[in-house]
Amino acid sequence: MVCTRCRGRLDAPPNAVVYLCRACGLAFEAAAERLVELKPLTASLTTKSAPPPVVRYLAVWQFAASVEVRSKDTRSGAQPEHVWDGVKRAAAPGPPFLYVPAFAFGRLVVQQLGAGLVEAQPVLSLEERIPWEVPLLSLLHEGVVSVDAGKDEGGPGFGTVSPVVLGRRDAEAVAHYVYLAVENRGSIDLRRIDYHVDVGEGDLLFLPAVYDRRYVRDSGWRFLLREFDGLVA
Ligand SMILES: [Zn+2]
Repeated sequence: MVCTRCRGRLDAPPNAVVYLCRACGLAFEAAAERLVELKPLTASLTTKSAPPPVVRYLAVWQFAASVEVRSKDTRSGAQPEHVWDGVKRAAAPGPPFLYVPAFAFGRLVVQQLGAGLVEAQPVLSLEERIPWEVPLLSLLHEGVVSVDAGKDEGGPGFGTVSPVVLGRRDAEAVAHYVYLAVENRGSIDLRRIDYHVDVGEGDLLFLPAVYDRRYVRDSGWRFLLREFDGLVA
């Protein structure tokens, strides 16, 4: 498969549903009988802590979402809109986003990292590019990383840029699951919720992160964004 813009060869790692062009930064998602063009955006590091030797970029779908909570039963008896109002405050003055990790299928990854991003509503500085700057081959050469590094311990199993294993349609469905994870984390004893989520336009983002098994509550990942600096021990 080649890129329609530059005729470059597309990167197609195992299980990927989005193919990235190394040459020009376009991406293509497999749809019925054709490839749909995407322009992935990459967020700059905003962490105040020292960057790690290997920065990974995790594929995440970002949806401008509008949420209506009609009713809710919780032990605290808080207003139905309570949790989502908190998300909107974190996002202000911008619109709130739902985030769906697209680099792994694991339930915990989606729940922990997705909910963490939605709660934090990080301020992202986005550029239309794919972060290939640190070529995996040179990292391999330097012995910094191996393709299978950490795989046995549940590590990333990829180089600088994660594969995209969740397509847009599936991510729209999983966005509901992430939203409910946020409600569940923010409510005392959530028993029932009647809500409506409109998942708006979606963008495919690559967010800088470091893999470290110490971040066990975040599936071993820490985003290199200042909103997550508080997690550093
Ligand atoms: Zn291209």
